[in-house]
Amino acid sequence: MKLTTPRCKICRRTLTDPLSIAKGVGPECGEKFAWMLCDAGLTLEALNIPFLFTADENVARFLRLAEQALLDRNKRAVELFKNAARRAAERLAAQASALAT
Ligand SMILES: [Zn+2]
Repeated sequence: MKLTTPRCKICRRTLTDPLSIAKGVGPECGEKFAWMLCDAGLTLEALNIPFLFTADENVARFLRLAEQALLDRNKRAVELFKNAARRAAERLAAQASALAT
């Protein structure tokens, strides 16, 4: 089986840098993508998700799915996964406050 060349998910250019390959986007598009995340309200700040919660499997998974949907330009899926990530974070927050009291 032939390995596929790692390509930038945004511009489809070939990636060579290991960090870029891990992220799936090149350095220039990485910046562009950060803006795309901002515009789509997909930043942790916009979602009101504490950074700590991104260690949670569900939160991280839904955020990844939302990012992927954004790359696929599937707006409905972005909203869906965005809300799922937020709900997962809200559950964590509820659990944390239940433990604190
Ligand atoms: Zn690119």
